[in-house]
Formats: sequence, C-alpha cells, structure tokens
Amino acid sequence: MKELQHLNKYFYKYRKQLTIGIIITIIARIFLLFTPRLIRESIDAVVDYEEGIITEKSVLKAELLENILLIIGAAIIAGILTFLMRQTIINVSRYIEFDLKNEVYQQYQRLSLNFYKSNRTGDLMNRISEDVGKTRMYAGPAIMYSINTLTLFIIALVYMFNVAPTLTMYTIIPLPILSVIIYRLSRAIHKRSTIVQEYLSKLSTFTQESFSGISVIKAYGIENPTNASFSVLSNESKQKQIDLTKVQALFFPLMLLLIGISNLTVIYIGGKQYMSGEIASIGIIAEFIIYVNLLTWPVATVGWVTSIVKQAEASQKRINEFLSEEPAIQNLNENPTPVKGSIEFKNVKFVYDDTNITALNNVSFSVNQGETLAIIGKTGSGKSTILDLIGRLYDTTSGELLIDGRPIKEMNLVDLRKSIGYVPQDAFLFSDSIKNNIKFGKQKASEDEVITAAKNAAVHDNIVDFAKGYETILGERGITLSGGQKQRVSIARAIIKQPQLLLFDDCLSAVDTETEEQILNNLYAISQNTTTIIVSHRVSSAKNADKIIVLDEGKIIQQGTHDSLINIDGYYKELYNKQLSEKEI
Ligand code: ADP
Ligand code: MG
Repeated sequence: MKELQHLNKYFYKYRKQLTIGIIITIIARIFLLFTPRLIRESIDAVVDYEEGIITEKSVLKAELLENILLIIGAAIIAGILTFLMRQTIINVSRYIEFDLKNEVYQQYQRLSLNFYKSNRTGDLMNRISEDVGKTRMYAGPAIMYSINTLTLFIIALVYMFNVAPTLTMYTIIPLPILSVIIYRLSRAIHKRSTIVQEYLSKLSTFTQESFSGISVIKAYGIENPTNASFSVLSNESKQKQIDLTKVQALFFPLMLLLIGISNLTVIYIGGKQYMSGEIASIGIIAEFIIYVNLLTWPVATVGWVTSIVKQAEASQKRINEFLSEEPAIQNLNENPTPVKGSIEFKNVKFVYDDTNITALNNVSFSVNQGETLAIIGKTGSGKSTILDLIGRLYDTTSGELLIDGRPIKEMNLVDLRKSIGYVPQDAFLFSDSIKNNIKFGKQKASEDEVITAAKNAAVHDNIVDFAKGYETILGERGITLSGGQKQRVSIARAIIKQPQLLLFDDCLSAVDTETEEQILNNLYAISQNTTTIIVSHRVSSAKNADKIIVLDEGKIIQQGTHDSLINIDGYYKELYNKQLSEKEI
C-alpha cells in the first residue's frame, strides 16, 4: 500500500466529492436492505392469514399492498442513489487519472536526453496509458466496491444477527471461501490477459512493419515466408486467448455454485431451525435467501478488488520510480540571464556516460557575438556533440564552456534555450501543417513572418507549389517532403525565432550547392548580430565563415579561415581539392 500513498494528495484534493460519494453509498445500501425485511413480513402475513391469525382478507391485502409499495419505493431510491454513487466516485477516479497523466507527461518534458536513451518508447507510452489506467481502477472502482461491500456487509450482518444469530453464522461461512476463490481467479485472469496483451502488441508490431516495408517485401518476393511467420504468430496468439477464455469462463459458474450452496444452507438449516422453533417464522428463511444473494456479489468483489489493488500497486510503483527521477540537466539559476551571443570552449572534454566514448577532448575555441563559425570534420568527429553542449543538452565532463563570459551552468536554462535556433542533423517535422511546423520556433508568428522565414530558407517556392501551400499537412497521412525540403523547413523554423545563437547541424547536406549558397547569403543578411555555428562536411558551407575549426576524433586538428586553411597541407585542403574536382563548391 506504501506505493499508493502517492495518490493521497489527489484524494485530498477531491475530498469533498469523495465524502459525498461515501455518504450516498451508505444511504443507498440502507435503502437496499429494506427489501428483505419487507418480504419476510409479507410472507409472514400470508402465513398468518392461512393460520387464521389474520382473519380479514382486506387486512392482508392492505398489508401486502403497503409492503409492495415500500419495496418499489426503496428500490427506486436505492437505484437513484447507486447511480449518484457511481457518478461521484467514478468521476473522481477520472479526475485523478487526468491529473496523474498530466503529472507523468510534465515529468517526461522535464527529463533530459539521457533518460530517453535508456528507456524504450513502448515502456514510456505504457506508463502514461496502461499504468495510469491500472491506478485509476484503484482510485475509483476499487474504493467504490470496498465501501459498498463494507457498508452492505455491516448493515446486513446487524439486521441478520438481530433476526437469527445461529442461522447468520451458517450463512456467512461460504462467503470468505468465495472471496479467496475469486481472488485466485482474478489473478489467473490478469496473468493470462497480460500474455494476451503481449501477443497483441507483437502482432501489431509485425503487421505494422510489414505495411511500412511492403515495397521491400514485394521487391524481394517474400510474401509467402512473411505470411507463414504471421500465421505462426497469430496461432500462438489465438492459443493464449483461448487459455484466457478458459479461466474467464469459470468465473460465473463458480459464483452461481457458491450462491447455490449458500441458498441450500439457508433452506436446510433454516428449515430445521423453524421446525425446532429456533426461528420464529418461515418469512425469515425467505429474508435470508435474499441477504445471501445481496451479499454474494459484494463478497466476490473483495477478491476482485484485492487483485486490482495489487496491480495498481505494481503500476504505481513504476510511476513513482519514474516521477522521482531527477533530470540530469538542472536549471541552477532562476534569475533572467539574457544571452548576447559569445561562446568560448576552454579545454572541454566530453564523455558519453552510456558508451564511455570520449566525443570531445581538450577542445578550445571561441566565437564572438555576431560571428560565424564553421565546424568541419568526418562523421563521428564530435561536431554534433559541440552543438549539444552549447544547448546544454549535456554538461561537459571537464573543462569550461562560457556563454557571454559566464559558465553555461550559471545561465538560466530557459533563457539559454530561448536564445537558440537549432537545426538538428536529422530534421524532425511534426505531423501538422507546414505553417505550424515553421511557427513551432515562434508560436505567435504572423503569416508574413512565416513566409519571410521560408523565403530565407529557400523553401517558399517549393511550398507554394503544393496544392494547399502552407496548410499542407506533413507526415504519415500527409505529404512526404524530400530530405532537402525537410532540412529547409527546419531551417525556417530556426530563423523565424530570430535567436541570438543559430546552430546548424549539417542541415544543408541534402541541399544542392547553389541553394546552399543562397541560404547562406540570406542568413548573412538577416543575422548580422547572430552568432552562427555551421556544422558541415562540405567546404562550401564554411567558405565565408569568420572562423573554421576542423575536428577529428574529438580533437581540433586545424583552425583558421578558409583562405588560410587552403594554403596549409591538411584535412581542410584535401577536402577542398577533392570537392573542387567534384564541383561541389
Ligand atoms: P559528428 O556529429 O561529428 O558525426 P558526434 O558528435 O555525433 O559526431 O559523435 C561523436 C562521437 O560520440 C561518436 O563516436 C559517436 O559514436 C559518439 N556519440 C554520439 N552521440 C552519442 C550518444 N548519444 N551516446 C553515445 N555516444 C554517442
Ligand atoms: Mg553529427
């Protein structure tokens, strides 16, 4: 139960609704329990008439009519109250589910990149959907049925003991057994349905992959083997489903059996007691049969509720572990620290924790505000890592990174990130309109600003060629942009922000050199005061930069300007000559 204490704050938040729900539940049960007594009185009245204790038929009729009306009245009131009970308690559980989902989602946004690297997307999704759902079952149904069972049980037992104590004892003996059996059954059902779920997700992964890769499957002519693998998987899935249904099918027959046994006990023991005069009337037997039937379902839910609570506990444990996770990157300064734009690396070393790869070693360079720095180097030389460090997606392992002369950790993280326009190596666009994808950089941007940004990124002409222009939807159900178009849309997204720092991570790789030049010229015109870092493997991107550094295996091997570097033997000159002959420049 310790794990579930996390939810107490929510119970406190909704304490009013919960209290009302509990009171309604109790009143509803009281009304429900009027019925058995009224039935006993009716039967006893009939017996009394038979035995001549009641002589007038009209008296009997009047008494029966009164009882019938009372039963109907009590049933209606109990029904309405039960409806209200569900409305309050189940609604509270939905509110709690909503709050908890938001809490989990906010934590997702808070956590740093390395968390996402060490967790699978599927698990992350599960935590927000399945785990929270299980927890809700505890916050709503489990609590409702517990209160329900408890009040019903206490009130019924008081009534029953008052009428016939010994008979009561006999009647309730089978109930705990019922409870245990249902608990066992619920657990078995849960186990098997988890397996069924696993198979369902395997099946959907398999089908999804074959749909996405349908062209590969057809091109290689492997439809038949693929079908065969699918049948194996779906057969296994079917078998698991049958296993589940087998246990589920036991549920109701078992309930009925136990209710039957309780009924027989009441009739047998009650009959004997009536004959020996231990109980006063036949009506009591009828009354008790109704009690037994009223009690069976709630008692059965004890077992069910126990298994819900157990599952909720396991889910909440996972949620708690995750909520207590602290982001690796913390904002250490809440005061505003607007960024002007100079950057300095001093002997920076960076090691990726998980792989132990030293991505940067002893890197020192500086860029003044408004300058353009180009970083050239082979794949894996550490170029992207430099940009990640500037955005503080990671902290340096050793050495210092200064922004405007201050250690980056002393900058307000929100201000820092606000001042950066970052274009990642693999342009990521959301399944939304092109316009919204560009506006992502500046939510309140006007139509004109969007168009200007797109023009500067040299993608405007492509966009207006689409039938729906800027409203074109991207992604699975929309249009697929070419690599170069994607890169340019994400460049537009970065420049619309008019940031102090522009970070381009090899984002012109899929653009031809002519367009590249056009974009770089536009950039030069609009970002006189912007510090720009352009990562590339092409000399053409670096030509006009104020400074160029060449990285290899995490170290700076050359630095200077284009003119100085093409005159010195080294990587830059080799690259220049190679790309010159390939006419890439
Ligand atoms: P570049 O951008 O120049 O291609 P990176 O900065 O991406 O190089 O990578 C530098 C080195 O760090 C490479 O050896 C790469 O394998 C490693 N690396 C990059 N990203 C990660 C990561 N997220 N986790 C572990 N190692 C990484
Ligand atoms: Mg890279």
